[in-house]
Amino acid sequence: VSERFLVLDELYGVIRLLEPEANRRGIKLELDITPGEWYVFGYRSRIKQAILNIMKNAFEALLTQGSVVRVTVYASISQVVIVVEDNGPGLSPACLENLFVPFYTTKQEGTGLGLSTTQRIIADHGGEIFAENSPRLNGARFEIRLPLSVAAR
Ligand code: ADP
Ligand code: MG
Repeated sequence: VSERFLVLDELYGVIRLLEPEANRRGIKLELDITPGEWYVFGYRSRIKQAILNIMKNAFEALLTQGSVVRVTVYASISQVVIVVEDNGPGLSPACLENLFVPFYTTKQEGTGLGLSTTQRIIADHGGEIFAENSPRLNGARFEIRLPLSVAAR
């Protein structure tokens, strides 16, 4: 069902899901989440899946000691912005060109469907997703922008 929901509820749901793995693998989760009642309209489970796909990829890219995944959230007047960065190997030029192409994967057992699905979900919600290398952490950086849902009155 589509509904108005708090996007941070879904984000914290994903973080809760991944915390045990982060603890087990010694991955530092850095959270810079500006608190706010940010509502998005759409399918909460799809948005949760999209955020999970991005964070899973970050975890899968991290194989060494001292791994960091940084999640930043803030909002502008009309959008909520979710940034996921890691200090893994980052995105090669070939990768940057093909990331969102269905079945593109560089993993032994990858499906290559995570990011194409994620892009579709974000687009279906009127949002945008970008990928680049992180100037801050030197790994990958994904930015999701979703339109805020204003209360009907
Ligand atoms: P899969 O995870 O099954 O490979 P995805 O669509 O989720 O498929 O990702 C496609 C490809 O994008 C990955 O195989 C990997 O090469 C690259 N990628 C995605 N996220 C990251 C990341 N955080 N760091 C490095 N490469 C990444
Ligand atoms: Mg994936």
